[in-house]
Amino acid sequence: MKNTRYLIIGAGLAGSTCAYLLKRAGHEVLLLERLDLARKSKLCAGLCTPRAIEMLHLIYGFEADHLFKQHLTSVRCIADEITAMVGNITTKSVERRELDAFAVAKYQELGGELIDRFSLRSIDPVNKVLTGFVDHERALECSYDVLIAADGALSTTRQLLTGKAPDAILTLEADVEHRGAPYTMAYESSFFGYSWYAPAGERAKIGCGAFRGAPDLKAELDKFARFIGVEVDKVRGAYIPTGSDVLLRTGSCYFLGDAASLICPPSGEGIYFALWSAWCLFRALTTSASYEALLAKTCAVIRREYKTRDVFFNKKFMELGIMAADATPYGRERAVKYALKHFASFE
Ligand SMILES: Cc1cc2nc3c(=O)[nH]c(=O)nc-3n(C[C@H](O)[C@H](O)[C@H](O)COP(=O)(O)OP(=O)(O)OC[C@H]3O[C@@H](n4cnc5c(N)ncnc54)[C@H](O)[C@@H]3O)c2cc1C
Repeated sequence: MKNTRYLIIGAGLAGSTCAYLLKRAGHEVLLLERLDLARKSKLCAGLCTPRAIEMLHLIYGFEADHLFKQHLTSVRCIADEITAMVGNITTKSVERRELDAFAVAKYQELGGELIDRFSLRSIDPVNKVLTGFVDHERALECSYDVLIAADGALSTTRQLLTGKAPDAILTLEADVEHRGAPYTMAYESSFFGYSWYAPAGERAKIGCGAFRGAPDLKAELDKFARFIGVEVDKVRGAYIPTGSDVLLRTGSCYFLGDAASLICPPSGEGIYFALWSAWCLFRALTTSASYEALLAKTCAVIRREYKTRDVFFNKKFMELGIMAADATPYGRERAVKYALKHFASFE
């Protein structure tokens, strides 16, 4: 049986960043990943907001800066028939596969141990023993002091320990050739969801997700792609948490990123939360700080945003807000920027 102080499940951005921070501080860590790392490719538009960029700098210095493909300084926001260009923003796009590979490489450079192609079978939280298989045949049993679940939106760890996966919705995304359309976020009250177009150099990501009901997402994506002027070929699907059921800890198991349901409910921003939760857990495990206390404000904001999300997607509210803003000297762009900032933590 293997034995480790910190056992981390999931080598996504949250898990590998936490592994890197703990290893850098001299701790014993084992990182387990379900997929084949050489082929793993995370579905994500790769948009890094100012707070995500700040976290990358805090954790990795400026080393990750070479991953930025494009600096986006304005965003076109479409709320049903209302369109507004919002300028003076700082968002940078990355290819998510490269960002995750960077975080894993930083951990491995320190001699960090990682086992991929790992299938999780059971967790005994009382005796602190986890079992599974590597490559579907080699049994792996590992005892630990602290278990860290960073296994994403459908978290198996969370299912095994609590009987429930995080509440999550399906999204669709495609990688397309960038033909010059601006960075766009479209909020559609018709299907109570949103679509995005995120340029990253010569490529771009186009996708959509719905919070309620089961609309024909592929038809919505095709419609949006026609509007943007790109051709969608291979479409993939992935789950994203809704933010309705944030869970930071159960017993000696801590949850990070998507596994904890840490997401911005109206915008789907999760890169920041993956990094921020990894940083907070590292601080909590290496000082006398409490993980829950460090994330208390973040959780309160997510819960509030989850509740106010309905207002953000309400067509009448959108129309009234724009009408009211047009009647002031500030105009609609300022109103849209205000709404994005306050309802979707988007700057
Ligand atoms: C289509 C889409 C677009 C998005 N676009 C953006 C964006 O532009 N900007 C932004 O900020 N956020 C975006 N997000 C959200 C963001 O991608 C996530 O919030 C973020 O990736 C969470 O990181 P994580 O490390 O917690 O989870 P993940 O990145 O999902 O990592 C989880 C890891 O755990 C592994 N794993 C799963 N189960 C097991 C298991 N049983 N055993 C071992 N390993 C396991 C997975 O293979 C994976 O490597 C998007 C999400 C989606 C779905």
